[in-house]
Amino acid sequence: MIHIALAGNPNSGKTTLFNALTGTYQKVGNWPGVTVEKKEGHLKNNSSVIIQDLPGIYSLSPYSLEEVVARNYLVNDKPDAIINIVDGTNIERNLYLTSQLMELHIPLVVAINMADLVRKNNDNIDIDALSKALGVEVVEISALKNENIDSLIAKAIKAAEDKKATAPLNIFTDDVASALDEIKGLIKDTVDGQYLDYYAVKFFEKDEKISKELKLKTDSEVKIQEIVANVENKHDDDSESIITSMRYKTIGEIVGQSVTKGRKKHELSFSDKIDKIVTNRILALPIFVLIMIVVYTIAMGSTDFSIGTMGTDWANDVLFGEIVPNFFDGILTSLGVSGALYSLIMDGIIGGVGAVLGFVPQILVLFLLLSIMEDCGYMARVAFIMDRIFRRFGLSGKSFIPLLVATGCGVPGIMASRTIEQDRDRKMTIMTTGFIPCGAKMPIIGLFAGAVFGNNPLVAASAFFIGIAAVVVSGIILKKTKRFAGEPAPFVMELPPYHLPSITNVWHSTWERGWSFIRRAGTVILISSIILWFLQGFGFVDGSFQMVEDNNTSLLAALGNAIAWIFYPLGWVGEMAWKATVATITGLIAKEEVVNTLGVLYHYAGEISENGEEIWTLVGNDFTALSAYSFMIFNLLCAPCFAAMGAIKREMNNGKWTAFAIAYMCVFAYVIAMIVYQIGGLFTGEVSFGVFSVIAIVLLGTIIYLLFRKGYNEPKEVLKK
Ligand code: GDP
Ligand code: MG
Repeated sequence: MIHIALAGNPNSGKTTLFNALTGTYQKVGNWPGVTVEKKEGHLKNNSSVIIQDLPGIYSLSPYSLEEVVARNYLVNDKPDAIINIVDGTNIERNLYLTSQLMELHIPLVVAINMADLVRKNNDNIDIDALSKALGVEVVEISALKNENIDSLIAKAIKAAEDKKATAPLNIFTDDVASALDEIKGLIKDTVDGQYLDYYAVKFFEKDEKISKELKLKTDSEVKIQEIVANVENKHDDDSESIITSMRYKTIGEIVGQSVTKGRKKHELSFSDKIDKIVTNRILALPIFVLIMIVVYTIAMGSTDFSIGTMGTDWANDVLFGEIVPNFFDGILTSLGVSGALYSLIMDGIIGGVGAVLGFVPQILVLFLLLSIMEDCGYMARVAFIMDRIFRRFGLSGKSFIPLLVATGCGVPGIMASRTIEQDRDRKMTIMTTGFIPCGAKMPIIGLFAGAVFGNNPLVAASAFFIGIAAVVVSGIILKKTKRFAGEPAPFVMELPPYHLPSITNVWHSTWERGWSFIRRAGTVILISSIILWFLQGFGFVDGSFQMVEDNNTSLLAALGNAIAWIFYPLGWVGEMAWKATVATITGLIAKEEVVNTLGVLYHYAGEISENGEEIWTLVGNDFTALSAYSFMIFNLLCAPCFAAMGAIKREMNNGKWTAFAIAYMCVFAYVIAMIVYQIGGLFTGEVSFGVFSVIAIVLLGTIIYLLFRKGYNEPKEVLKK
């Protein structure tokens, strides 16, 4: 077996190369944090070669969790060879990591990726000169366009088989080099000989993680401190920056000899010109809002504009309203099936699963548009724009990346929070990522936007912005508490140049998200449709347990009514109260369950007319505009599904924090939904002034106070010189 690791900066194309090599489709993205765990795969035509995709790193000094994963793999698992992927449009920065990787003495091949872009920029990279200067094989590739991949992997396999250790670059001045030699003498009994160079540099840089990990004898530690202090004094600089600047000096020389840029330093590229408008201080946010409204109009707006809604209307009215029911009706009738089994299949399964699947067209269109925005490079700009806005409130743009990922599914979104170094900011991001409407919440939005609001795209888009607003509001409030106070992490991200979206990327990311939705409809949703049908079809009548005619008298209705009072202040009243309550609770299993449950419950209750009259009309009749909106808000913001709660538990790695996060989301959702219903109701005349109005006003006042109060300020550390 040969193990080959892919190492490189975030966004250099590691996952794209991994997919090309292994023939799999791991998620690629335009921002750091898409790959937070390592992924293994076999080479397409040679199963004895194992390729390892690693999270992106800028250096071998890890700051965040996913960087630790990458470093630990490289240092502890000793791959047989490393393919170091270098973004050819950004060589200088990328070679910084290369110079560190070379100190591991592991056979190394450098892949200069994005050859297509390099050509487009009219840059010229002299591969032979670069290879000679680095002392390793260099191959120019395009992972996306599948150029030169075969030659790259052949060279990597050969390097692994030859076991020819890579020699580090000659970077350091004599005094630093001899200091490093002295350190090597002190640590050589503690560390693996192969990594002597690497560890010596780490000790010289005073890397805390390493010194904790290796626990040297105290006198060695003291000696190292002396050696380092000596050099620092002489250079009048901190040891880490001494190393960094020497690395950049060497890299600068190498790049100077082998790379010529096609564009003059200050010339604006096509992307720069677009960015002048799109990331403009004043225009950026309105442009983003406008784009999102257009996206939601096309995905979920009225049928005049929306392909998504056309598809969903057809799926609801025709496919699951006529074709599928008629088909099964025919089969069941000819088999002579009637009564309970007939109702189970027609009302329970087709009613429930069909209700969810009906929204697939809207979801696919939405995902398609989001994928295009992602792949062409616009979403990376949005992260950059959001960083500017977030930073004003003490939040980091790094928190926005998980939110973007969460538009597909909250689980990877929550995992993406690993890119955030500070524990407090990471926790805060984990707590709030679930506010973003994921794919599974889309049917809720589609249902109510359609049934109650005439497919007003602003209602659908508002779900997205309520999610973001919930994150920002929570962020501001939490940041003012002592536990979360502190400077936001710096956010560094290269903006990839705009390009036409790649059809494969867009298709795969759309399909992957859509398919996981459809798959759940066939499994979890199917099973719960059956269970729900039973629970709502049986009850106690005159003391005996039997099938009920009207599901308002069912066991499920009794259970729902027993807790529905909790939601009374949110406007969930009358016959819909128990149904809304049950739907919310089943939503914890998976968010599609909300619509599934309403599908089953209303299917049974309504006298479904001959032509399969839309059950959503029945739902629409039961909810007022405000109670529908409060229901939507509560279900979008409250505790996420179990899978996402599990992800929260894993990332928090702490029961109390997990409980706190989930409780926070529930309380926040409740408060906002209540304020919207109670205060909104005063305006529409739907509620009359009463005790809940007072509570809602007090809550609103409290939120405003928490937002604007002077928060906790970290005492400034007194600098000792
Ligand atoms: P990773 O973070 O290193 O795993 O990078 P990804 O594989 O996720 O790729 C980052 C972005 O660069 C994606 O949008 C890719 O489509 C794009 N990309 C990767 N390789 C190439 C390439 O050879 N040419 C071009 N033009 N884009 C590429
Ligand atoms: Mg990746």
